[in-house]
Amino acid sequence: MKNIVIIGAGLSGTLLTINLIEQGGSGGPVHITLIDRNPERDLGPAYSSREEALLLNVTAGRMGAYSSAPGHFLQWVRKKGLSAGEWDFLPRLLYREYIQELYQQAMKKKAKGTAMTRIQGEVTDISIRNGKAEVFTENHAFHADQVVLALGNFPPRHLLLANRSFIQSRHYFQNPWPDQVLDSISKDETVVLIGTGQTTVDLLVRLNRIRHEGKMIAVSRHGLFPLAHSTFKEYPSFREEIMKQNSIAGILRVVRLHIKKSKELGQDANAVMDSMRPYTQELWMNLTSEEKARFLRHVFRYFEILRSRIPPESEEVVKRLQESGQLTVVRGRITDLVPQDHHLEMIYIPAGKSRPETIASPRVINCMGPETDYFKVDHPLIKNLLNKAELQPDPFHLGMNALPNGAILHSDGTAHNILYTLGFPLRGIIWETLAAPEIRAQAEQLAHRLLQKP
Ligand SMILES: Cc1cc2nc3c(=O)[nH]c(=O)nc-3n(C[C@H](O)[C@H](O)[C@H](O)COP(=O)(O)OP(=O)(O)OC[C@H]3O[C@@H](n4cnc5c(N)ncnc54)[C@H](O)[C@@H]3O)c2cc1C
Repeated sequence: MKNIVIIGAGLSGTLLTINLIEQGGSGGPVHITLIDRNPERDLGPAYSSREEALLLNVTAGRMGAYSSAPGHFLQWVRKKGLSAGEWDFLPRLLYREYIQELYQQAMKKKAKGTAMTRIQGEVTDISIRNGKAEVFTENHAFHADQVVLALGNFPPRHLLLANRSFIQSRHYFQNPWPDQVLDSISKDETVVLIGTGQTTVDLLVRLNRIRHEGKMIAVSRHGLFPLAHSTFKEYPSFREEIMKQNSIAGILRVVRLHIKKSKELGQDANAVMDSMRPYTQELWMNLTSEEKARFLRHVFRYFEILRSRIPPESEEVVKRLQESGQLTVVRGRITDLVPQDHHLEMIYIPAGKSRPETIASPRVINCMGPETDYFKVDHPLIKNLLNKAELQPDPFHLGMNALPNGAILHSDGTAHNILYTLGFPLRGIIWETLAAPEIRAQAEQLAHRLLQKP
């Protein structure tokens, strides 16, 4: 019997499991072990919150679990008797229910030769010997022919400050995603959110939902929130034109031209960015390392604002909080976080000024986005795999070094036939890999590949 161990039961690990079960049966017996530190009711940081007000940031019509049926989620929602449109942003907890129902259905229909075990545990090490792997949690070891690292989003890195004492403070929250981050909050507490990206918007939505009355302060260097999605007509593909470009400057020129054209047609940049999505991976892979580095240095931040959009409902909340004066956006650079008995003192230099200013808050939440540099991830599994050279970061430290199909690369550049990955860890390799539309395709292809391997 072939043993496949999947580490991580977020969307990637769960969709991979569903595909393995659905595709299994013909290629001989297989035992799938799915391990996650969190209980089975969760689905990774994106979809585990119990808060109904947190909406998907991809429209319902595109969140289907199968690449052949992007509308499958929407159909499921309608079958439940809920009314929803293709362009609606539905609650994330509804999406979790959908994926978990598909998982349960797959379990019921699994072929005779397919066995499945779900384990709650923290994977701390993998040992690879004689073409086989052993996966270790705190208390158990699991034999495996193939192991998939579906590890997804790591908590944000700490701020790089000379004084590191804030890390131990009970007023500092490194991980912004669990619901518990707002536990026992008092009504009038000042909350500081470090960052102005999607996670900050999520927290503002949650604070608004619990009718928080205290001040909310969002700090980042540029002070820019992501833009909201808009409905748009499909913009005609300009693939041929852009594929001729081999520099970031050339690509930007073409994109700007089309954004201008789209505006003349009464559309917006959303439509243009969306039309590029089917070939963004190819575009990234065609660039030289120098051009990729140039993009990351000069364009990435602005690209993220255009590309990683938020639901209009969330934008509305942010605007209202700002207009009422409850939310302040601070453009500046944090220079220190000083622990005091009942709060943290955030010292920062506002943009364009030279004198530091101070804000005191009992709840400072790090919303700087997932850590992508595996050298900086403070986890025994990652440290052990790096030490044994079973894993290397990709050249840009955005994830793991791997082939586009998910096979992890050894330090000599040869592909592993035991360790695989999908989703977030492939960011540096194929770029467009974070959201459901890409993850479902990877899960389908990887399941096929794993079942084929002897
Ligand atoms: C807050 C948030 C909202 C998002 N919203 C959307 C959205 O609306 N639409 C969309 O398409 N995308 C969204 N995304 C992108 C999202 O990352 C992907 O859609 C998808 O959820 C990623 O799934 P994943 O399984 O790859 O990673 P994750 O969801 O991060 O799951 C990884 C899992 O691995 C487990 N794990 C990691 N290491 C270990 C270990 N050593 N031992 C045991 N378990 C381990 C973790 O507990 C976790 O459950 C969102 C992301 C975030 C962070």
